[in-house]
Amino acid sequence: MASRLSPQQQIEALREEIRRHEHLYYVLDALEISDAEYDALMNRLKALEAEHPELVTPDSPTQRVGGKPREGFVKTPHSRPMLSLDNAYSEAELRAWDQRVRDALPSTERVRYVCELKLDGLSLALHYAPETGNREQGTGNRGAFANGAALLVRGLTRGDGTIGEDVTSNVRTIRSVPLRVDAAKLKAAKLPGSFEVRGEVVLPQAAFLKMNEQRVAQGLAPAVNPRNAAAGTIRTLEPNIVAQRRLDFYAYFLLHGEGDKAGEMLLPTQTEALAALRTAGFRVNTHATTVDSIDQALAFIAKAEGVRDSLGYEIDGVVIKVDAVVQQRRLGFTGKAPRWAIAYKFPARAGITKLEDVLFQVGRTGKLTPVAALSPVFIGGTTVSRATLHNADEIARLGVRIGDFVQVERGGDVIPKIISVVEDAQHPRGAEQIVFPTHCPRCKTLLVREEGEVDYRCVNASCPARLEEELRHFASRSVMNIEGLGEVMVAQLLGHTIAEHEADAAAAGVESEEATADAPTREALVASVADIYTLTKEQLLTLERVGEKSADSLLAQIENSKQAPLNRVLLGLGIRHVGERTAQALADEFGSLDELIAASTSATEGEEDKLTRVNDIGPKVAASIRDFFSNPTNLALIKRLKKLGLTMPAEKRVTTSTLEGLTFVLTGTLPTMTREAAKELIESAGGKVSGSVSKKTNYVVAGEEAGSKLDKAQSLGVPILDEAGLRALLQPAK
Ligand SMILES: [Zn+2]
Repeated sequence: MASRLSPQQQIEALREEIRRHEHLYYVLDALEISDAEYDALMNRLKALEAEHPELVTPDSPTQRVGGKPREGFVKTPHSRPMLSLDNAYSEAELRAWDQRVRDALPSTERVRYVCELKLDGLSLALHYAPETGNREQGTGNRGAFANGAALLVRGLTRGDGTIGEDVTSNVRTIRSVPLRVDAAKLKAAKLPGSFEVRGEVVLPQAAFLKMNEQRVAQGLAPAVNPRNAAAGTIRTLEPNIVAQRRLDFYAYFLLHGEGDKAGEMLLPTQTEALAALRTAGFRVNTHATTVDSIDQALAFIAKAEGVRDSLGYEIDGVVIKVDAVVQQRRLGFTGKAPRWAIAYKFPARAGITKLEDVLFQVGRTGKLTPVAALSPVFIGGTTVSRATLHNADEIARLGVRIGDFVQVERGGDVIPKIISVVEDAQHPRGAEQIVFPTHCPRCKTLLVREEGEVDYRCVNASCPARLEEELRHFASRSVMNIEGLGEVMVAQLLGHTIAEHEADAAAAGVESEEATADAPTREALVASVADIYTLTKEQLLTLERVGEKSADSLLAQIENSKQAPLNRVLLGLGIRHVGERTAQALADEFGSLDELIAASTSATEGEEDKLTRVNDIGPKVAASIRDFFSNPTNLALIKRLKKLGLTMPAEKRVTTSTLEGLTFVLTGTLPTMTREAAKELIESAGGKVSGSVSKKTNYVVAGEEAGSKLDKAQSLGVPILDEAGLRALLQPAK
């Protein structure tokens, strides 16, 4: 960028560029630059804004994640109620609705319909208002909207339809929501400076799966379906969390923003409204189609059902709206829904199959979960052979017995659910009661059901089933990140042969008693997570499919994990109710394990407050932390981990100046970023890039065909990073 431009001009140009890429990526799904290049632009803007804080404006792309709403979410009335739609479940109901619409309008009038996919998410109302104040050359006066831009001022949830919650701080983090619609776009879309956009926020399936993977890794229950996950996310009081998940906002209503008409349709037809929204930079679902008859609408529905599984987001039907707003007005409303629109709901995707058996799995915390083993059945594109039964209460509620035929439903859910027991001539009832084991299926310890809790637990701390889950959790990517310690390796460390492990995984206990009670063939090499750090190469070489190279690599990874920061170690200890975020908060607050233990074990009420004072830690979580650290076995484990060399540094959340005081040398070709981009990233994080390697060099970042600089770094013992290592260094700790 030419330095002749004033800082303000540079900032404006960068913002425009970033907005253009955000629109391309998040609205149009078209990618023009790599993530690294995008990050570099953003970092440059951040750096410039840091130098010129007076030039920071709320619509800058850097301002998507702002402060938390201090008072929670403020209840705010909607301009016009956000009504739900009447539903139709069959072709006949849809045709009846079409007849009612045409009966209510003059027979000479043509009726057109707009068909849109019914997204299974959460409705939002976004309010835009003219930008006020002077901008370059602008007169800044109101009344001359056409010269100014419109800014996002408010985002409301549907709430009860009349009053919503102000979730503006979270809405701002959704990148498909423009923070600003510039004058040119307003003009092209023929929009005033004030308007309201209504639409649906959804969590794409990929983002949903990723989120659940993380939740499971943290020992949390997975979210049931993307809609619940989106709803939970948008109502989180942490804009940071919202920003990390990829929510998408699809716009479908365009309304007047102010005056008497506030909340009424802004344009004469729905077709024009969708086009204007698209022009203004909003994400509008590309499947929307205008049709001339209900027959064409039915054809649209059939097509939508066909593509349903390949969309990447959940839909549960099709919405059909009368296109012309004059006709909408004449049709009006019933008590609670417009007569001019209807939601056609797809039939739920369900199937009937036989419950062959119930298996009991023991989790990391010892929790026993009943899992239904089903005769495989094809539902909505996948073969289903497992379904969750949650707990004893759920089994009682369903009244299900082994051998029953059950209705299994697959919504947006991760794990299919049993809805009900089927009983008719073709589906006789099963006879076998589901009996919860009294003892752990693995270690035979008597199970305990704590007062007020639904779940049974194996309380044996050295239960092999628990240990297996613990080891997998401890080694997982978001915890100690020991890649070589996967499922198969864990099973081997616990003395199982690979054949045993595979048989166990495949059968997963169709004969539950026997299969899960299988005794390992060999002696276990580990009895606790600490034992990972005493493993020797000789031991590893006795295992199947382990050679010199993989043994060395695993040992190096284990060695490396000794430097894992405190928050990850806390997560790895598996304290109940302590997930990623709580672990980070504890590490930030106490700085060392000793401090945390001191705060957790002092008996006075006042000290207790030390825990609950930490953000997000309530009495229940505090109690569980205190429980954990008052257990001598756990304290002994921690002592041993320290003795084995775990350093547990308290890594503060990374700020923009993370690389402050560090000098880097770049050499060779990096896989995805240019050396220029790498340089910018380092510099924008406060680091320095030098041309030659010396003892003062902190890191050498080496790519393919690195030359003499790499050799020199090796001879001087300077740490060497690859691109991934550099990115990890730049990444804020989560
Ligand atoms: Zn057990």
